[in-house]
Amino acid sequence: MPRRVSAPSPASALLDRLERLERRVLQLETGRVGPGDGRAAVPRRERPVTRCKGCGLPLRRLKGRCAACKRPLGTI
Ligand SMILES: [Zn+2]
Repeated sequence: MPRRVSAPSPASALLDRLERLERRVLQLETGRVGPGDGRAAVPRRERPVTRCKGCGLPLRRLKGRCAACKRPLGTI
């Protein structure tokens, strides 16, 4: 985004700049970006993660056992 260097008139330019800065701070504080900005973070999809009840890690099955702690899944 190109920054404007020269201002047409001091008072209105300052007000304009202040308004944009306020908007920017609000965006930074809320973590949101204005519409059409294109820098908005991709909304993170919360996928339900199955966790091992033994070690609490995201479950990776390996031969019917947790790959991390080797606990048999059937007996948990
Ligand atoms: Zn485990």
